[in-house]
Amino acid sequence: MMTLSNSLAHADVAHQLHPFTDARAFEQNGPLIIDHGQGIHVFDSTGKKYIEGMAGLWSVAVGFNEPRLAEAAYKQFQKLPYYHTFSAKSHEPSIKLSEKLAEMAPEGLNHVLYCSSGSEGNDTVVKLVWYYNNALGRREKKKFLARTNAYHGITMASGSLTGIAVDHKDFDLPILPVIHLTCPHFYREGTAGETEEQFTARLLKELEDTIAREGADTIAAFIGEPVMGAGGVLVPPKGYWESVEAICRKNDILIVADEVINGFGRLGTTFGAAKMGFTPDIMTVSKQITSSYMPLAAIVFSDAIYEAVADNSHKIGAFAHGFTAAGHPVATAVALENIAIIEERDLVGNAARLEAPFQSGLRAFADKPLVGEVRGVGLMAAVELVADKATKAKFSKSGQVGQIANRIAHEEGLILRAIGDTLALCPPLIVTEADVAEILRIMGVVLDRTA
Ligand code: PLP
Repeated sequence: MMTLSNSLAHADVAHQLHPFTDARAFEQNGPLIIDHGQGIHVFDSTGKKYIEGMAGLWSVAVGFNEPRLAEAAYKQFQKLPYYHTFSAKSHEPSIKLSEKLAEMAPEGLNHVLYCSSGSEGNDTVVKLVWYYNNALGRREKKKFLARTNAYHGITMASGSLTGIAVDHKDFDLPILPVIHLTCPHFYREGTAGETEEQFTARLLKELEDTIAREGADTIAAFIGEPVMGAGGVLVPPKGYWESVEAICRKNDILIVADEVINGFGRLGTTFGAAKMGFTPDIMTVSKQITSSYMPLAAIVFSDAIYEAVADNSHKIGAFAHGFTAAGHPVATAVALENIAIIEERDLVGNAARLEAPFQSGLRAFADKPLVGEVRGVGLMAAVELVADKATKAKFSKSGQVGQIANRIAHEEGLILRAIGDTLALCPPLIVTEADVAEILRIMGVVLDRTA
């Protein structure tokens, strides 16, 4: 007789197309069905316990069974389970969250526009920026600058900003006027004999040359994750972001910080841009805003953008953009409670305090035979596995060793994310020093068993 998990697995294979999954391999192997969560742990349908070393999808700050979020959702479901924010309608949770985000954001970013996912968020950023430039009569100023290996989502516009080749392949992306500049990852992009300073200078020259070639009057914005996540946890060199900011300011190019992973404490600061030393005009936030208990994203933008957009909406008669679920009352109520928990428990400070044991513990694996580079900031990190440490040569079949490590990690009770042959970690912000030590112990076992 089939067990419940087997019948669920059969139904899953029969009916669900899974994101970022090889569908034919999935038909053979089936899903890992997660049944319930507790703190930093999740349990699969056989009862096996795992440390969720990726906080889900880089997103569950407060752990997997926070009762206050369940209560906040239930209370709001009972009071007003749905209302919208079109046509001057509003509701208290969306108003209070907007006020809170403006208070938390860098000075001058006082305006909020909601949607339900990071992808929709960055899609909306493109529309907002185009609308802004059209409002100012700058109809040619439309191109976006992004970076290779960036992940900004998968919709037509956000997927175009994404700079990961496999995310474009056979989806006919990019469709936007977007220029992907070299990703600021010295280990992979630095050339033989080049110092990190020379590498940074080369990237900044590439930015300046691109602006000169295309014309600043055709470039609307530079978008970037302060520290890149899905591309493999790629940390830019010191001084990179400050200089990018200076060049963009000089050329009247808006700076968009994609804080979808970095935001709400991941790097040990409330937002990643502060840690990386720059101030954006626009931020996209999502994931840890609700600990992903409810789908929600927000675009937080400057007074200057607001003024032009407000004028134009008045001229046209409406700001004709919005989603049925934008600013959903339950999602925004959950976000307010989640942010309250992050503040009360000082989870941003916790990430800052645990950065040293977490990052230095992982760097202690640098000598292991398969390890090419260990990198990260705050509570996000990655260990890149290579075929040859000296030459940095990759494995002949990309991702195969990463998958082996991923399977071993599951056996050892740790969920990590294999990005090709790079093993990413991004634990919930509620981790303790003892939890970090346990993650490091298991990582050591995983690396030894994979070798
Ligand atoms: N931006 C960044 C930096 C992300 O990491 C992600 C998702 O991982 C997105 C945007 C897209 O968010 P979503 O999956 O909610 O559409």
